[in-house]
Amino acid sequence: MSADCVFCRIVTGTVPATIVHETGSVLAFRDLNPQAPTHVLVIPKEHHPDVGSMARTAPTLAGEVLTAADEVATIDGVRDSGYRLVFNTGRDANQTVFHVHCHMLGARTMTWPPG
Ligand code: AMP
Ligand code: ZN
Repeated sequence: MSADCVFCRIVTGTVPATIVHETGSVLAFRDLNPQAPTHVLVIPKEHHPDVGSMARTAPTLAGEVLTAADEVATIDGVRDSGYRLVFNTGRDANQTVFHVHCHMLGARTMTWPPG
């Protein structure tokens, strides 16, 4: 838990969010500035700054984040139509919140490559 981390504050309930799915270790909530009809952020409750750090130090937890993203696909009804998972990491990817989060995007056709 990091007191100045907005996603840690969502975990503790001091910042409001629209929760979609929750397990003992993972929370999924709707992005404030959605880029697709389904745009959910899937985060570990434990603070890790980025996906590489989580994968190295807590690989089981990294798997739990992916399992939760799959569950969100079912909840939002996009399992059959498809979806995109994105972990922005560091400066070139324009990461703005340094608590690892998986963007789960769906319910529209995606372009490739991303901008
Ligand atoms: P990133 O650029 O990958 O770090 O993305 C951070 C994402 O967090 C952006 O899509 C923001 O819209 C989203 N975001 C920031 N603060 C909140 C919040 N309080 N509740 C929901 N989404 C948020
Ligand atoms: Zn945090």
